[in-house]
Amino acid sequence: MLKKIGVTVWFTGLSGAGKTTISQVIETELCVQGYQVEVLDGDIVRENLSKGLGFSKEDRDENIRRIAFVANLLTRNGVIVLVPVISPYRETRQQIRQQIGNFVEVYVNAPLEVCEQRDVKGLYKMFRDGKIKNFTGIDAPYEPSLNPEVECRTNLETPEVSADKVIAKLISLGYIYSSVCKV
Ligand code: ADP
Repeated sequence: MLKKIGVTVWFTGLSGAGKTTISQVIETELCVQGYQVEVLDGDIVRENLSKGLGFSKEDRDENIRRIAFVANLLTRNGVIVLVPVISPYRETRQQIRQQIGNFVEVYVNAPLEVCEQRDVKGLYKMFRDGKIKNFTGIDAPYEPSLNPEVECRTNLETPEVSADKVIAKLISLGYIYSSVCKV
């Protein structure tokens, strides 16, 4: 039986950059291999664990603090935790890294224009129509990762290639053992 080492894989990036898509591909691949995987998706968390929180810096930090608390518990229990959440503040991400320890940061990087063109959830249009404010990357800050373990350039690569880069890193760091990546 495999020794289970938990890890939190934290996907940061603009809305529409590809965080959810990549984590879903990874979840599927790792589940097939028999790993215990949990996804804490920012959008879903905001509908339950963080219901009622807004998008001020305080509320964003509180949202992240709650997610990190759960991620830490799961990580300690040998789960591979995938966290696709914008998490715009570098210092906050650094604090979570310290807190959790077994932490891999994935910078999901696509230019703002590309994210806006994708507009998967229609949020960019809502912003341009003046219906929402504090939008990350436009009128609210996004601080790019400086030293992520993995950078996915999602305007230049497919979700499968991005997912395989993350899986390859998890293998090289010793968090997973079998080679499930194709690159
Ligand atoms: P986020 O979770 O960052 O808000 P989503 O995953 O919901 O973003 O949406 C990203 C969109 O970009 C999807 O429509 C996806 O198909 C597309 N996309 C194109 N290339 C990639 C890639 N390499 N990785 C992830 N998503 C990609």
